[in-house]
Amino acid sequence: MNFLDFNINSMLKEELQSLENQNKLPHAIIINGGNEEERLNTAILLSMWATCRESGEIPCGKCKSCINARAKNHEDVYFAKSFGKTEIYNAEEMKQIAKDTILKANSARNKVYIFLNADKSMPPISQNMFLKTLEEPPENVLFILTTQNSKALLSTILSRATVFNIPIKDSFQAENIELAKNIVQGIINPMEIDLLYATGKLTKKQTALEVLPVVSRLLRDGIACSIGSECTLDEDTGKILAKRLTKSRLIRLIELNEKAIVKINQNVNLNLLATWLCGEYRRISW
Ligand SMILES: [Zn+2]
Repeated sequence: MNFLDFNINSMLKEELQSLENQNKLPHAIIINGGNEEERLNTAILLSMWATCRESGEIPCGKCKSCINARAKNHEDVYFAKSFGKTEIYNAEEMKQIAKDTILKANSARNKVYIFLNADKSMPPISQNMFLKTLEEPPENVLFILTTQNSKALLSTILSRATVFNIPIKDSFQAENIELAKNIVQGIINPMEIDLLYATGKLTKKQTALEVLPVVSRLLRDGIACSIGSECTLDEDTGKILAKRLTKSRLIRLIELNEKAIVKINQNVNLNLLATWLCGEYRRISW
């Protein structure tokens, strides 16, 4: 994914990158947390990603589709309208949107519907109407919801959506760095038990979503060391990785993490995921 000049949190970038691994468009994406501007920017970037007309790294930022989506003036990107004093997406609006999703996109590959502040503006009745659309989602339609607290939405909606969390701080927590380093150590250690032990700590969704991007960052440091460029997180680990693993293996490990993040966002059983991840790390690195 091309992030252009958008100011997107680096941990969120790692997560969003996982979208490229999915062969088809997700039906619904929830952008949760952060501040209003961050959520809006991420929604706009995703609308460009879903409608860009170029191939290769998208969004290109230059085609007509990208320019219009960025200006919030794209015929296939619709911002749901809120009504009344309480600014809610009312039943009538939800009905109109459901009808509109059946129609083909005007010019873009996909149609995008954006519901800003869905946790505050989408009352249960509207959420239930939205759920019906999500249960039988039309092809090539992407719904983007932004929330301050995604848990305020119905769990039935959450389970059908991919949730991306904007971390509070754009820095990795010390304990996550340590756990990530243990995983990397486990990957390069001949004994499998260390890796099993380290991945076995990823049994909480939040932990797994926070730690895997750090693992990827360390692996990137390995690539950086092997091509003589600068490490961004930990040079020592980078050097060890560069010595021990080829660049292509490091890339495959990063891709594996991205796949794992997709699975976590799809609410996979985390015990199974930890075991699978351990096996795949070994397979790629040995
Ligand atoms: Zn474009």
